[in-house]
Amino acid sequence: MPRTDTILILFNILYNTLMKYLYETHMHTSEVSACASSTAEEQVYAYKNKGYAGIIVTDHFINGYSTCPVYLSWARKMKHILSGYEKAKIVGDKCGLDVFLGWEFTIKGSDFLTYGLDSDFLLSNPNIDKLAIEDYSDLVRKHGGYLAQAHPYRDRPYIEFKSPVAHRLIDGIEVCNALDTFESNAKALAFAKRHDLPMQAGSDSHNAKTPYRCGVELDKKASSIHDIIEALKAKKAIPFTS
Ligand SMILES: [Zn+2]
Ligand SMILES: [Zn+2]
Repeated sequence: MPRTDTILILFNILYNTLMKYLYETHMHTSEVSACASSTAEEQVYAYKNKGYAGIIVTDHFINGYSTCPVYLSWARKMKHILSGYEKAKIVGDKCGLDVFLGWEFTIKGSDFLTYGLDSDFLLSNPNIDKLAIEDYSDLVRKHGGYLAQAHPYRDRPYIEFKSPVAHRLIDGIEVCNALDTFESNAKALAFAKRHDLPMQAGSDSHNAKTPYRCGVELDKKASSIHDIIEALKAKKAIPFTS
């Protein structure tokens, strides 16, 4: 074998061994989330520049802090909810950042990151924004989705329950949210360990100038959001913050 080929093969083995793929699990765009101040395009370039392999766009659902007008039909509301993700996907495809769909579903102030479902699910399930957590959890899982409670110990006046829901209702939990206190994150970590739940970290970025990196690290590139879900379930998605 020529020497250059051997060097290339060795380099590839080393590269694949050392290479980690960083994924954002929780972020917002100003098109859909009323509390966000950067567009989908600005967010995508920021994540690309920070070295992420991909992001899950988790804009607020219509029961959260959404820019969606209340007078629209269900179909048009869902089109609006997906618009941040769709813009991000176009920019991501151009610059080489994988963009996956999720949303942040709010019940009585508590937030649930929902992954693995699509526009067909949203269009064929009108008025899900009114569901209680038991029914939402059933529906999401029945359709093959993944549900993780975000920042479960966040303490704000608008949050009715300042602790996690019953662990059987969720598939995973955010143990590090960059906007939360150390104490809240530590309590979430203890809860996850107590119930043997898959763990994730997320920046909850609402602005492209967010200075830190947070998310999960995979040792293989995800070809779809289902690869990230499988890694989370198998506890092979390692939460990171830097
Ligand atoms: Zn927000
Ligand atoms: Zn959020």
